[in-house]
Amino acid sequence: MINWKQEVENRKEGFIEDLRSFLQIKSVLDPDTAKEGAPFGEGIRKGLDFLLETGEADGFRSKDLDGYAAHLEFGEGDELVGVLCHIDVVPEGDGWSSDPFAAELRDGKIYARGAIDDKGPTMAAYYAMKIINELGLKLTKRVRMIIGTDEESNWQCVKHYFKHEEMPTIGFAPDADFPIIYAEKGLFDCEWRQVKSSETNEGDVRLLSFQSGRRLNMVPDQAEAVLEGNVEIEEIAAEYKEYLNELQLIGKLSVENKRFIFHLEGQSVHGSAPEKGKNAGLFLLNFLSRYSFDQGGQNFIELANGYLTGDTEGNKLEIKDSDDITGPLTLNTGIMTYTTTDGGIFGLNLRYPVKHDFESTQRKLTSVGKQYGYELNEIEHLTPHHVPKDHPLIKTLLNVYEKQTGEEGYLISIGGGTYARSLEAGVAFGALFPGEEELAHQKDEYVDVENILKAAAIYAEAIYELAK
Ligand SMILES: [Zn+2]
Repeated sequence: MINWKQEVENRKEGFIEDLRSFLQIKSVLDPDTAKEGAPFGEGIRKGLDFLLETGEADGFRSKDLDGYAAHLEFGEGDELVGVLCHIDVVPEGDGWSSDPFAAELRDGKIYARGAIDDKGPTMAAYYAMKIINELGLKLTKRVRMIIGTDEESNWQCVKHYFKHEEMPTIGFAPDADFPIIYAEKGLFDCEWRQVKSSETNEGDVRLLSFQSGRRLNMVPDQAEAVLEGNVEIEEIAAEYKEYLNELQLIGKLSVENKRFIFHLEGQSVHGSAPEKGKNAGLFLLNFLSRYSFDQGGQNFIELANGYLTGDTEGNKLEIKDSDDITGPLTLNTGIMTYTTTDGGIFGLNLRYPVKHDFESTQRKLTSVGKQYGYELNEIEHLTPHHVPKDHPLIKTLLNVYEKQTGEEGYLISIGGGTYARSLEAGVAFGALFPGEEELAHQKDEYVDVENILKAAAIYAEAIYELAK
């Protein structure tokens, strides 16, 4: 019987020192210093070197794939167990209480950009491998830490890596939450784009421009519309005020050079739960639908109102669906733009359940757009990711989690997006415990030292159980 917690405890000082040194490297994407062997810039290259040099000194076999990704490996056998981590971090942003790259240790926490996403969990998984290796435990499989360098941007790292290297038979990514994220919805980013702008000018009012939202995966919190035409300002102002009051929204209307400029403020939330936000663009388009517009403006508004407004489940599009693995389909209208020269664009972020018939949804989106003169363009499509509940990987990880924490383990499904989906049979496994504060990508990001040591013990036992 190995006391994994004790083995981690015995290496606590080294762990903290290594983690702090790792966090002090500013491994942020920097195209200005990119070169051969360092495609994402100097900082990320340094972070990668740190981990590779540490690993080589500890006796792991290493391989660097042109600076896109790398791995550290030990053990023997045909099969491969993968541990997928990343060393790149998002920019630090403002408002920190201490230098985001000093990795200050205060009250049992280490504060740094990347502390929980993903350098802390990466170091925990690294020490897990180190412990098994130092104890000289016999393995029947190889264990490989796959180190990504571009997780926060385009995942070019793993794409490059798996073009050249073998796919592990099983694996996990310590880059999210405990207990286990075993299923992720399919993700379809697309746009409806007006094929050609229509020059007809019937209608009382002309829509000159519309702008709302910048990112597909966020609910827009601002919208602006500019229109001109046969409108009574007092009347429209009173109607707009009433509309805003009724829906408890904030907005304003101003007139400049006989043009009416509408602003509306909604509430932004992440695109995976659009029902929790207030879509500023759709609310504004809904208000404008009371007027009769020129053909281009009219189509833009009717398409929104007929199929998107007030509906984050795909009811109006008749694509609503739900399953017992990942729950309901969600639809976020993240971007809406219109100009008289380029016409209209709707940027959509669709997340669909594992068992959903995606092809029929794609056909539906295509045909609805077509009715209004819009074509459907795919921006990104990630198919659903799912490891069956009775898979040995899940059983082993749940078992280890329960044993180490004394808590009941359970499976989580999400809207999509963990690093684990790069693996064929992979789940996200920690390192944030249930109820722990989540500060990834925010100011004062930290990792709790006791918790990350606990995670290291879980990873050590898990890797050993998977590879023994
Ligand atoms: Zn991450």
